[in-house]
Amino acid sequence: MTNSSKGKVVLVGAGPGDIGLLTLNGKQWLQKADVILYDHLVNPDMIRFTQNSAEKIYVGKKEGVASMEQEEINQLLVSKAREGKIVIRLKGGDPFLFGRGGEEIQAVQQAGIPFIIVPGVTSVTGVAAYAGIPLTHRDLSSTLSIITGSNEKKQGDIHIDWEKIAARSGTLVFLMGARKLPLIVEKLMSFGKNPDTPIAVVQWGTTARQKTWTGTLGTIVEISAKDKILPPALTIIGEVVNLKPVIEWYEHLPLFGKTIVVTRKGDQAETMIDRLRELGAEPFFFPVIETIAPDDWAPLDNALNNLSQYHGLIFTSVNGVRFFAERLKAVEQDIRELKGLRVFTIGPKTAEAVRNLGIRVDVVPENFVAESLIESIGKENINGKRFLIPRATVARETLPEQLREMGAIVDVAPAYQTVLPNTPVDALKKRLAEGSIDVITFTSSSTVKNFLALTGEELLPAIKKITIACIGPVTGKTAKDAGLNVEIAPEQYTVASLLDAIETHQSG
Ligand code: SAH
Repeated sequence: MTNSSKGKVVLVGAGPGDIGLLTLNGKQWLQKADVILYDHLVNPDMIRFTQNSAEKIYVGKKEGVASMEQEEINQLLVSKAREGKIVIRLKGGDPFLFGRGGEEIQAVQQAGIPFIIVPGVTSVTGVAAYAGIPLTHRDLSSTLSIITGSNEKKQGDIHIDWEKIAARSGTLVFLMGARKLPLIVEKLMSFGKNPDTPIAVVQWGTTARQKTWTGTLGTIVEISAKDKILPPALTIIGEVVNLKPVIEWYEHLPLFGKTIVVTRKGDQAETMIDRLRELGAEPFFFPVIETIAPDDWAPLDNALNNLSQYHGLIFTSVNGVRFFAERLKAVEQDIRELKGLRVFTIGPKTAEAVRNLGIRVDVVPENFVAESLIESIGKENINGKRFLIPRATVARETLPEQLREMGAIVDVAPAYQTVLPNTPVDALKKRLAEGSIDVITFTSSSTVKNFLALTGEELLPAIKKITIACIGPVTGKTAKDAGLNVEIAPEQYTVASLLDAIETHQSG
């Protein structure tokens, strides 16, 4: 719904890279956005906070080449807001620090468009924190200068007053100076700064690709010579750099530097993503499954209208529980109809979802696979008893078949179906080519199949080389049968256990 009165521009700082450094305000605006214009340095995973219907426009520069001119960006902000849309201008770090945020808002203001500004965690403080370098310290530095490393006018020089800057005593931070490091240190030394002054260069701070070089003004060029320092990189100069060995923490997290692909979607993915970030990994969100209503509700509706005939209700997934509960409401029934039914689930997460509805779970088997549940149920006398399994349209037949063999009557009712979402493959393709994907995680056979369907034949050779982590033996077999390199299989078939197994594998 758009009307011209609500049109506005919201300038949002996205923080330096780690998705957790987006502010609450920023996230809320992303959720409300009709249009999002985002830059190169914005973590593209943030786009998952937006509505599917929102228009996402990449306007970033790459390798110095603008994919869109500044003037064009300004005009786009104005024209989209004039259509009555909430336009989010998402920029790396803080938008008012070397981000042209001021220029863009001036254009918006001149056009008479209302605007809001949401500050962000600048890379200056964010990257320093993740590198373990306090920018000020009572014993070492009482001032901080934030300096551009790239406002060159002619001959690649940087247009700043080097003499005054070299004379400053506190901490100096240069942005945009990755390629200008030799020039920066040479200028500072030639204007009198002590060659022994400590310096750190931090590349891709707050992300899995964070890399730091430390030395002194006199040695840093040689120290970093064998590596090519590429943007984005931040240079911190001053005595505070010496505190890094004591304070650094991010680089010591167990999964630091690892990029791990998460193929689940929605709430289920959030838990996994949060935990991965806590362990220092960079989650790469690549959803391969979307759950939607089944084509035909008749079998489930029929069962719901005759619940009293059932002995037991078996849930095999969180989605099964969710859609079952929604449908129960839709047919104007409630959980009171479940009185007297025995409730079974395969795994603990499914059990939790059932309990959240206020329903007691009678049995969760020891191992979280269908076979284990069959074993548990088999201990009861189920001959002639009727069971309902609300589940995905397409699923393994083991459970119903074996229960039938044991004399039970089993109704399988589709409660949802899974479909392929239109997840863009480009970013994954690039990361595979760079060799910067460490692990791909699968939590069901359908995530494996859908992943391969989305990525296609072309990427298969690259994917076969990546370490695969599968939640359980069934998923593992599907992946192995497809020729994938399954190296991580947890003892318990839960996401928590899967993450533990990844941690052990990757730190081993
Ligand atoms: N508005 C941004 C800065 C934009 S200029 C902010 O507040 O952070 C872009 C420069 O920011 C880069 O050249 C680099 O110097 C710095 N930068 C941004 N993200 C960074 C990161 N993750 N690691 C290191 N430097 C970063």
